[in-house]
Amino acid sequence: MGLLSGKRALIVGVASKLSIAKGIADAFHREGAEIALTYQNDKLQGRVEKFAAEYDSTLTFPCDVADDAQIETLFQDLGKHWESFDILVHSVGYAPGDQLDGDFTDVTTREGFRIAHDISVYSFIALARAARPMLEPRKGSLLTLTYLGSQRTMPNYNVMGLAKASLEASVRYLAASLGPSGMRVNAISAGPIRTLAASGIKNFRKMLNEFERQTPMRRNVTIEEVGNAATFLCSDWASGVTGEIMFVDGGFSFSAMGAIEDDSG
Ligand code: NAD
Repeated sequence: MGLLSGKRALIVGVASKLSIAKGIADAFHREGAEIALTYQNDKLQGRVEKFAAEYDSTLTFPCDVADDAQIETLFQDLGKHWESFDILVHSVGYAPGDQLDGDFTDVTTREGFRIAHDISVYSFIALARAARPMLEPRKGSLLTLTYLGSQRTMPNYNVMGLAKASLEASVRYLAASLGPSGMRVNAISAGPIRTLAASGIKNFRKMLNEFERQTPMRRNVTIEEVGNAATFLCSDWASGVTGEIMFVDGGFSFSAMGAIEDDSG
């Protein structure tokens, strides 16, 4: 019996085998969950269908989260297969490339701000609202992905840091809103991982190296490790956990390491 046996999970945000959402889907499948996936656009459809087949699933649905009509259709279509389900994963983030390259004050535009918050934050609220009638009967669990750039400035992360701060506040407000129905809402704050979204951030490689050097564990985390933590948060073992931002970052965020030892001898 896996940790998620008997549970059904809808995962939004698989784009490649490197996606954090792919690590989560792998772990959920290993732990016995039934999986449904969405894809952002036609270009990703074939790839996502292949990933679903790895989980013995044919449940794949288009969903551009910028479009309310597509969100509505997603749950109508999912409802034809599952009357209700247990887990909604939101692993979606986006800001236009010009927002993630250069000095924050200079590059942040009204439109860049709007898009980053619409796609990376509002979509979680919109999905939660649309999913609520199907999650409520099973006292469902919702999970999103955030990053430490919400609390600390990171070079070139810029407006995404603001969006992540808003996303983390959304976790708390959604937890308070859905808690009386027995539903839980949490986030994982992952350390930097090389994915398609991350490659849009200028000098991301440098960030990875810096984390590796300064993290108590002296290495970056993997999508498998994020998947395992997500399994816990979305399982009944975390039945008392909601409104939580759980760090899966090798200890970087709390790091009490005032100085890095010089290994060069
Ligand atoms: P990824 O590129 O694999 O995933 C991003 C996903 O967002 C893709 O599946 C993409 O299709 C989806 N997306 C973007 N715009 C969309 C839209 N309009 N409609 C529907 N889907 C849309 O990258 P990832 O790193 O796995 O990102 C997943 C989440 O993890 C993001 O929220 C990201 O900010 C967060 N995160 C990433 C890191 C990292 O270092 N990679 C660290 C912490 C948090």
